[in-house]
Amino acid sequence: SISPATLSAISNAARKGILFKGGVHLENLSNIQAIALDKTGTLTKGKPAVTNVYMDEAVNEKEILSIIGAIEKESTHPIAKSITAYCLDKAGVLAPTFEIKHLKNISGKGIIATVGNNEWRIGKADFVGKELTVAFQQQYADKQSTAEKTSTFIQINERIIGMFILKDTTRESAKEAIHNLKSNGIETIMLTGDNELTAKAVAEEVGINQYKANCLPQDKVEYVKSFRKQYKTVAMVGDGINDAPALANANVSIAMGEGTDIALDTADMVLMKNDLTKITNAIQVSKRMNRVIK
Ligand code: ADP
Ligand code: MG
Repeated sequence: SISPATLSAISNAARKGILFKGGVHLENLSNIQAIALDKTGTLTKGKPAVTNVYMDEAVNEKEILSIIGAIEKESTHPIAKSITAYCLDKAGVLAPTFEIKHLKNISGKGIIATVGNNEWRIGKADFVGKELTVAFQQQYADKQSTAEKTSTFIQINERIIGMFILKDTTRESAKEAIHNLKSNGIETIMLTGDNELTAKAVAEEVGINQYKANCLPQDKVEYVKSFRKQYKTVAMVGDGINDAPALANANVSIAMGEGTDIALDTADMVLMKNDLTKITNAIQVSKRMNRVIK
């Protein structure tokens, strides 16, 4: 049965915007020694703006955008949502005359679909073909626009026909939250599927101790498992489908309130207003509660 001290701590936390799915999680929280945080949608707002688009001169840009939008519409990824909105704006309509089949989301990489007789891929460089993306960038993109930003490529069969450059912004609460966690002696690590340069830029901006770039969902799991060998209690914060397996492997899992359903279902606690500084508040509540019940 649940103690009155635990109940009162849970309701106290709820008033502060932190939802706990059980007393045991609140008890565990005060023991955390390391915390892994996802980047996109967790440390950042997850609403990346399309800052540049480069297209092969030979293609009909409007038609291509209308198809890309129709494909990305089927993904819940923050990048996909921004690209869909951009395409709808530029093309006016999403692929009414093309049949899109065999659509598949590849978590942490991109999306794949068949349009007519062609295979389309939209996603990161090592998903579409790294060498091809280097050649495309040299021909079309200027370096300045791509530095420290997320590049998403469009490939039709064996050919890269375009790329989107997206820039996300860090959450207002991120820097302060990381500072507070570090002040509590907690090791902070960012885990992201994004590229090395973007990862480094965000890590420096928020002041996090370590970062790991180019993580697939399974890599995030492996990192969480290895941290658990090194630290007594490990927390993980995430928002996406791609974070759910890692969340499930942490001692305490935390989801962003505006995260996807699967992250919210998996997590032990939820930051209802997406405010990362609430994590240290919750740790204080946890410490106080543990003093009372012990
Ligand atoms: P994070 O760990 O930072 O939340 P993800 O693991 O979800 O990032 O995604 C990693 C990378 O895969 C993204 O930066 C993006 O380049 C690419 N990606 C994933 N899904 C899509 C998609 N639907 N469309 C385009 N690119 C995608
Ligand atoms: Mg994310």
